[in-house]
Amino acid sequence: MSAAVGPATEAPLDLAEGRVVVVGGGLATARVCAVLRRKKFRGALTVVGAEDVPPYDRPPLSKEVLAGERDDAALPFDVEKLAVDLRLGTRATALDTGSRTVTTTAGQIAYDRLALATGAEPLTLPGEGRQLTLRTLDDSLRLRAALVPGARVVVIGASWIGAEVATVARTSGCRVTCLEYGPEPLAGALGAEVGAATRAWWDGVDLRTGTAVASVEPDGVHLAAGAVLPADVVVTGIGVRPDVSWLASSQVETDRGILTDTRCRTNVHGVVALGDVAQRWSSHAGAHRVVEHWDEASTSATVAAMSLLSWDDGPAHDPVPYFWSDQHGHKLQYVGSHGPEDTVTVDRRTDGSLARARWSRDGLLTAWLGVDATKDVVAARTAVGGPLDALD
Ligand SMILES: Cc1cc2nc3c(=O)[nH]c(=O)nc-3n(C[C@H](O)[C@H](O)[C@H](O)COP(=O)(O)OP(=O)(O)OC[C@H]3O[C@@H](n4cnc5c(N)ncnc54)[C@H](O)[C@@H]3O)c2cc1C
Repeated sequence: MSAAVGPATEAPLDLAEGRVVVVGGGLATARVCAVLRRKKFRGALTVVGAEDVPPYDRPPLSKEVLAGERDDAALPFDVEKLAVDLRLGTRATALDTGSRTVTTTAGQIAYDRLALATGAEPLTLPGEGRQLTLRTLDDSLRLRAALVPGARVVVIGASWIGAEVATVARTSGCRVTCLEYGPEPLAGALGAEVGAATRAWWDGVDLRTGTAVASVEPDGVHLAAGAVLPADVVVTGIGVRPDVSWLASSQVETDRGILTDTRCRTNVHGVVALGDVAQRWSSHAGAHRVVEHWDEASTSATVAAMSLLSWDDGPAHDPVPYFWSDQHGHKLQYVGSHGPEDTVTVDRRTDGSLARARWSRDGLLTAWLGVDATKDVVAARTAVGGPLDALD
């Protein structure tokens, strides 16, 4: 990160008269507001959210909501109790860090402290055909309505979202094809060897790995190799990217996401970033990392709020990363962070399917993945960074 922009020191936020603006509408936003109020901040708290609904949770969107088991993904967020000035359907479009003003689609808002929690946007492929993505409650309800028995559903991408969507589509009676560029499902995230051990779970889905998609057109999905796959529903799950374009004219430093230190502070005084939009310094990784997981958005909120209250001192946040995925009737839980050069050890069940994977470097455990092994997660989290055989 480049040198800090702002005064040498920053006075603590005035707990009674200060003005905090939070831009976002997800978990990180809800948690920052709750922590600020818990820490006795009584000043003006404004939330600017692009969606029309109060901040909500996203993991249920590809699980219970998509499966029709519930219709919302509400988070605890009591506007009255939190005394939040909630501006929904309002998008932040520019930031002037000199005058400490956020420009939105509904006018300008002045702040003393600003939290940026704008999440990430799904990537899509070229073409004129209809591609559904899965990021918002509306997306989930729209896709749910399309997953009718017999529908030809093409899921592009066999990573986390693709696997969860394929799971629900199959159980909804759809005819599901999944196209994956990599050699195995989840290979981009977990490597080919671990991904291969999940193949058996895809029984009932036409899983085509090593398949590149050129575009999505009105007549179907056009493969790079030339074939066209007709589809009633195309779901594109090829990853997300934080939208930081609206900060281009501000002094806030961005790379893939918004660069922060371990206290969620950006290079600009008074401005923090957290959750999926942040590219936070990780001393584990020795690099700035975008950590697009629920646990990161949740836990970083405490530290981000503390930085808002007291800019110059406070706790740091650099936990062992954790995420989970529910797919094909299994719960996958991952802790740690592995690199492509790490050695992987895969444990399989008697039927050959994945039971556990461990990654190591120089004999030290860098990451652990368990399948239906919730009771082992806490031990794994403690073991990361220690000897590989600690979990034997
Ligand atoms: C379908 C789905 C399933 C998931 N499942 C899991 C899982 O099983 N396990 C796991 O660990 N993680 C999962 N995640 C990831 C997890 O939900 C995210 O890490 C988390 O939601 C990040 O929270 P956030 O508050 O940073 O961002 P978000 O929840 O994305 O919220 C960002 C909000 O900011 C708003 N916004 C964006 N730009 C602007 C702007 N300029 N002005 C105003 N508002 C703006 C957006 O509209 C959005 O409401 C899943 C995510 C999705 C989408």
